[in-house]
Amino acid sequence: MKLKLHWQIAIALILGLIFGFASRAFHFESFVTDRVAILGTIFLRGLRMIIVPLIVSSIVSGVTSIGSAQNLGRMGLKTFTYYVTTSLLAILVGLVMVNLIEPGVGANVGLQATPEQLSANAQRLGDTLLGIIPTNPLQAMVNGDMLPTIFFSLLFGFFITQAPSPYKQHLTDLFQGIFEVMMKLTNFIIRFTPIGVFALMARTITQTGFDVILPLGAYMVTVMSGLLFHAVITLPALLFFVARVNPLAHAKAMSAALLTAFSTSSSSATLPLTMECVEHNAGASNKTSSFVLPLGATINMDGTALYECVAAMFIAQVYGIDLSFGQQMIVVFTALLASIGAAGIPMAGLVMITVILGAVGLPLEGVGLILAVDRILDMMRTAVNVWSDSSGTVIIAKSEGETELKVLSGTA
Ligand code: ASP
Repeated sequence: MKLKLHWQIAIALILGLIFGFASRAFHFESFVTDRVAILGTIFLRGLRMIIVPLIVSSIVSGVTSIGSAQNLGRMGLKTFTYYVTTSLLAILVGLVMVNLIEPGVGANVGLQATPEQLSANAQRLGDTLLGIIPTNPLQAMVNGDMLPTIFFSLLFGFFITQAPSPYKQHLTDLFQGIFEVMMKLTNFIIRFTPIGVFALMARTITQTGFDVILPLGAYMVTVMSGLLFHAVITLPALLFFVARVNPLAHAKAMSAALLTAFSTSSSSATLPLTMECVEHNAGASNKTSSFVLPLGATINMDGTALYECVAAMFIAQVYGIDLSFGQQMIVVFTALLASIGAAGIPMAGLVMITVILGAVGLPLEGVGLILAVDRILDMMRTAVNVWSDSSGTVIIAKSEGETELKVLSGTA
């Protein structure tokens, strides 16, 4: 009997963990970072290779199947409402946690790094928003810039539906065909996930270990308990009460994607698996998933939003700066924008913190405090990001009257 993919990934993850710790204990770190890590790199490159053609063909074929402007508008409205609501809920949970636990109050942690290069990288939010409209769509695709690529694909798909026949049919068929090929290619690459996950886990543990984790324990506990609350209470409640989806069945359907998100720390790289799980295991239509998921992987980041809020508040606490209610609201709002602006790549959220710190006048060097443990938190928030995207897809699929869903309560 062949082991299911998510089991293979789970086992690979644990083996990677053990291997990483063993490398530190028996001093073969360089073997892991120089040799084993290459397997992880190969896997990530494979995933990145398919992202642009997969997203473009999936969105174009998805939008052509949604059809009318009215349907598209309705889907768009639902999708954005979901994104903003869940991100705000996540941030509020983070805000409550950080005010309750107060991880930074009285903390005595030395700065570990200067964040100059981080602030140099920080994108300006305004630029991100304007950048959604590509001046050259092909360049956006070539550079792998997700938002402009998605924007152009949405428009292109929509205007195919407005083209006269026979072109409309030709183009619809063409993009449907490309999408079918991309799905096959995706499935092929996904088969290598366990190997990639093993290598990525081993590398992370080899590089990080446990030493750096202890001093920042309270901060990590705050972020983690917030993420846990959002993942096991808030989102499952939405799944169950809004869409009558069985959260456990849905989690099982998504497990391969969640484990991959955890070990790659990248929602974008996980996107092919997320699509595969949502469509094949959860039973959502390609029409819905191709609209909600690619957008969600770049825009909807509940885990990142929560983390941004907690991290900024933690830094304020460590520096002994008391933020007023008004300033905390600015943190909430900028955390939302930062999570929207963050790319679905590893540590993107860390870079965006500087935007929040700047907005409420906190010292940018504060980022240095949290740098050391960011990798671990990144894994967790990415899994929550993907969990939220997938939950949104089935909730919207249900509200669109889809009947093929396999995760409804009572069916599982
Ligand atoms: N790594 C996260 C993601 O891809 C973004 C972040 O750094 O928060 O979803």
